[in-house]
Amino acid sequence: MTHPGATVLIVEDEPEIRRFLRSALGAEGFKVVESATARRGAIDATTHKPDMAIIDLGLPDYDGIDVIRQIRAWSPMPIIVLSARTQESSKIRAFETGADDYITKPFGIGELLARIRVALRRALHATPTQHTITLGEADIDIESRAAMRAGKAVHLTPTEFRIVACLAKHLGMVVTHKQLLTEVWGPQHASDTHYLRIYLKQIRDKLEVDPVQPRHFITETGIGYRLVESQRATPGTVGT
Ligand code: CA
Repeated sequence: MTHPGATVLIVEDEPEIRRFLRSALGAEGFKVVESATARRGAIDATTHKPDMAIIDLGLPDYDGIDVIRQIRAWSPMPIIVLSARTQESSKIRAFETGADDYITKPFGIGELLARIRVALRRALHATPTQHTITLGEADIDIESRAAMRAGKAVHLTPTEFRIVACLAKHLGMVVTHKQLLTEVWGPQHASDTHYLRIYLKQIRDKLEVDPVQPRHFITETGIGYRLVESQRATPGTVGT
């Protein structure tokens, strides 16, 4: 699915990267707004009302994290971080501030475009009701809390179902351990990451064709999980 005419805000101080993104996104039919500083990015987000934003973290005036925080104060638009910072702590901070995805530099344009499409698709279908998701041979009806696999009903416990529903709400995007734990068990369990390992194993056993090489319930090591609806394997993420 394409998104003709969608406007993408790029907050990035390196002119070469901006030029590269402008040309690559332009070729895909996106409109591009460019901001070279954090301050400019926060302003352009309000004045141009883009459909989504790609934000660098290392910016000359202040940190991209603060741009995310400012946008999140008024807008649910998808935000993808594009940063040279590879540490898990940096990624977790970005997700917990409200980023939907995180791509590290150097990056592949194919991967970035794929993530942009996922982000825009999710934003377009953000209505949380009566949504059925297809995971290979399994179908899950979020509304009626029913799961089928190869034509047979699969029983998910209420907790397993809450985890699936939470990931489905952010389909294709990363949900951090803290976000999942808080939403499913409550804030007092925000650091009980071992709960998730146990439950994700159970969920994969029930819904994945090969639970050891999951194609849908993807581990983002040290950060969280991502639910991928399509058959496409996500490179570099093997389940634990
Ligand atoms: Ca930079």
